[in-house]
Amino acid sequence: MSIARFWRETPRRYNLGGSKCTVCGTVYFPPRPVCPVCPQHRRSIEKMVPSQLSGRGEVLSYTIVHEAAEGFEMQVPYVLALVKTDEGPVLTGQVVDLEPAAVRIGMRVHATFRKLREEGAAGVIHYGYKFAPTDDGERAPGPEPPTEKVGAGTAPADRARA
Ligand SMILES: [Zn+2]
Repeated sequence: MSIARFWRETPRRYNLGGSKCTVCGTVYFPPRPVCPVCPQHRRSIEKMVPSQLSGRGEVLSYTIVHEAAEGFEMQVPYVLALVKTDEGPVLTGQVVDLEPAAVRIGMRVHATFRKLREEGAAGVIHYGYKFAPTDDGERAPGPEPPTEKVGAGTAPADRARA
């Protein structure tokens, strides 16, 4: 990808801004101007609204890459995964912060913004999303994840049982 194209696309790469069809509720990333799912596409043209992805999802499938593309030599082996976001769109991205052998289908992950690569002697640094494991694998997705109350009021015995 050219640098110019990369920077044109950078805002949505950073904020995972997609679009949502208010007719059928399907979310798209990258955003689409019309909904290809609705039987009459043209009806959805005025019905698309911006929709923010949470960046949370689960690993749908993955591959462990042993031969790096140019510019990624320092990172092999790495995990490249298809991640099904909670909102629906499937994103492709690298999974970081784990041993490649530890990746599992169905693993909960969340998007995190990392350096993707450095380019040439000029040291142009590309950033974008990667995925990192999320420690909420057993929890159903919800607006307000329960918070552990571990603090002054917690008896050591309770913590030992947990
Ligand atoms: Zn639709």
